[in-house]
Amino acid sequence: MRLSSGIAVILVAILLGGAFWGLSRGRSLRVKPAHGEHAFSGGLEFPSNPTAGPLWDSAVELARSGMLEDGARLFAQGASQDPRDAAWPQAEAECWAAAGRHDSALSALERCRSIAPLSTAALLRRRASRLELGFSMASTGQPWKGRQLGEAILQESPGDSEATLLVGYSQAMNGNPGSAEAVLEKLVGEHPGVVQAYPILVQCAMRRGDAEAASRWLERYAQADPAAIGLAAMDQQLQRMRSRAEGKSNSRLRVVCMGTCPYGLEDEVMASAETAWNLLKSQIGSEPSHQVNILLGGQANAPHWAAASFDGQVHLPLEPATDPGRRDAVLRHELTHAFLAFAGGGQVPLWLNEGLAQYYQGERCQRLPGAESAEWLDEIQARRTFMDLDEDQAELAYIFSLAVAQELMELNTSTALAKYLAHLRNGVDERVAFRKVFGDDYPHLSARIRARL
Ligand SMILES: [Zn+2]
Repeated sequence: MRLSSGIAVILVAILLGGAFWGLSRGRSLRVKPAHGEHAFSGGLEFPSNPTAGPLWDSAVELARSGMLEDGARLFAQGASQDPRDAAWPQAEAECWAAAGRHDSALSALERCRSIAPLSTAALLRRRASRLELGFSMASTGQPWKGRQLGEAILQESPGDSEATLLVGYSQAMNGNPGSAEAVLEKLVGEHPGVVQAYPILVQCAMRRGDAEAASRWLERYAQADPAAIGLAAMDQQLQRMRSRAEGKSNSRLRVVCMGTCPYGLEDEVMASAETAWNLLKSQIGSEPSHQVNILLGGQANAPHWAAASFDGQVHLPLEPATDPGRRDAVLRHELTHAFLAFAGGGQVPLWLNEGLAQYYQGERCQRLPGAESAEWLDEIQARRTFMDLDEDQAELAYIFSLAVAQELMELNTSTALAKYLAHLRNGVDERVAFRKVFGDDYPHLSARIRARL
């Protein structure tokens, strides 16, 4: 039996499925018909017709000349003239199937079955169309329909290996890797030659986070089909998965997923963090001497309004981490805290810390709040944390922190900031260092902002 298009569709689906189904391009895997099954030649096979006549002959001629859909319509016309002859809808089904219209072929076979029990040829046609349509639906977002079609075949032939493959594949595409594995494991236990099952098994095990099982299935796949082109790509995918437990790291940064993260996210976060690191190093003039951890998707111990937090490690929830636009800004913000913690010996006041984090994040204070909120300018100077504030209060605290820090940066250079931080690192009192480097103090600086409210 010919299944090439269904199997080709699997590979397309695997490719389109993105990270999880990210196999490399493979040659079309072809199912060998199980022993005792008939193989369709690929040509049109019309049943003999007791009510044939000129209409039948015209339909056959149209179909054989490649006008399959026109042929199908003529056969349908014949079926309405001779409603008790099952040959008409069966011939119609042949045309639809040859045209790749397996849904129409199956409806024609239903009409056929309502007239008489299906012939052996019609049964084979129905099975083939169910498989073709099933694989196609499972890979185009309707895996439950794929599964239904596979189950329909199994209803009549419980040992059908390709229908079992379709059921397992549909379950995998439906996001049930555990059930898919159970079905496919049984399948390859009974039919080790169904090689298409192995890449699906590998991907299911990886989806469950089971590197050992994935590795075993990959080995079995290599034994069953040593020339399969997807092997190397899956092996790489498996290596990356194994290294994920330790996270991604270099001498500066370590990115660790704390739970289930989208595939490849650690690499993306690492790349963003590296870019942020280089920017901050050039702006702040020094860099942390220790590795900074970025924990992805874990508990952040932060209020709901905080996109992320820094408490010696950066806690980055998945929501900003997976959005490239936000991720870059949030990492610049949180890594500024890491840089200032190191560069300023932990002495940088909170308002300056949060103000600079927003400044390097790329925020600029475009519009100041009204004069009625001016007291926040005094409030933020003495604060040790903003984490206890509600969302509205926090917003004011952050805006004023940015406003004062931005004013400071516009009046001074980043060299001045580096000097100030070096003083802090060397144990100089913060107020003394501030005045020494910036020639001013917080009350004077904040008074400049207050005057503009
Ligand atoms: Zn912050």
